[in-house]
Amino acid sequence: MKTALSGLTLREPRTLGAALRLLRDDGPLTPLAGCTDVFVQFQFGTLPARAFLDLSHLTALRRIRVQGDVLSIGALATYTDVIRSRSVRQRLPMLVAAAREVGGPQIQNRGTLGGNIANGSPAGDALPVLAAAEAVLVLISADGERRVPFCQFYTGYRTSVLRPDELIAAIEVAPVEGVQWFRKVGTRAALAISKVVMAAVRAPKPRVALGSVAPTVVRLPRTEAVLAAGEPIAEAQRVLAEEIHPIDDVRSTADYRRQVAVNLLGAFWKETGR
Ligand SMILES: Cc1cc2nc3c(=O)[nH]c(=O)nc-3n(C[C@H](O)[C@H](O)[C@H](O)COP(=O)(O)OP(=O)(O)OC[C@H]3O[C@@H](n4cnc5c(N)ncnc54)[C@H](O)[C@@H]3O)c2cc1C
Repeated sequence: MKTALSGLTLREPRTLGAALRLLRDDGPLTPLAGCTDVFVQFQFGTLPARAFLDLSHLTALRRIRVQGDVLSIGALATYTDVIRSRSVRQRLPMLVAAAREVGGPQIQNRGTLGGNIANGSPAGDALPVLAAAEAVLVLISADGERRVPFCQFYTGYRTSVLRPDELIAAIEVAPVEGVQWFRKVGTRAALAISKVVMAAVRAPKPRVALGSVAPTVVRLPRTEAVLAAGEPIAEAQRVLAEEIHPIDDVRSTADYRRQVAVNLLGAFWKETGR
């Protein structure tokens, strides 16, 4: 009998080395982490892939630890792992805030940070956090590993510098000075895709990152410069409105997104002020 699963191949390596060799020698293979994005595409019939690489046995890629001064979060860490991690709570509370707002408990238990990054939706809730934290991605292949600043990872809408023979292994975050802030605006509190999502850090050089207002997550250097210069928040809000170019789509209008982004900047400044 022919079913929807006929003709699909699943490879299940037990070690990272074996996984990387399969990616290099037997590709193209689509990695599977929590499958929360892949399964939706599969159900909608929009997933062209026929051959998959199950990452679930690669437990080393799920570890969260502090190495020297750097917080290292394995790409297979789930949102629940992030929420439960004392190191993440202490060093990157805005990531915990984002993780708590992803989907519902079921998605938080399965969905991974690496999957959110690789999927590359501009609405991915973890992505503005990683941009504001100036995270570095560790990409690994059979030939070795390389580090890419998160803000240089995406090349366009859902495209990135990740090669087909590479996995995202970990996310590294150096200490973030200043007060961290995160806010997601969606249709409702749970199980809603963001209309606008902002992560920001209040420091002498403030950092502001936005999701859902461009083909990729964006930092706002002009807005940040106005804030750093100590100009009134209204001026920073005016510059932000010019700096972003959101689109109309099924979830929202460009005007609404722009106004919400302006309001979020005001909320960030007010709530993190002394
Ligand atoms: C009901 C529902 C609600 C959701 N709500 C939200 C939400 O509120 N906010 C949000 O941001 N997202 C949400 N999502 C999307 C999804 O849960 C997240 O993007 C999640 O982080 C994806 O992780 P995953 O491990 O399930 O990825 P998968 O589905 O396993 O993979 C996604 C993509 O990443 C690739 N990939 C995975 N891991 C790696 C790796 N280590 N290296 C290289 N490539 C890799 C896969 O090949 C695939 O292309 C929701 C999804 C559903 C179904």
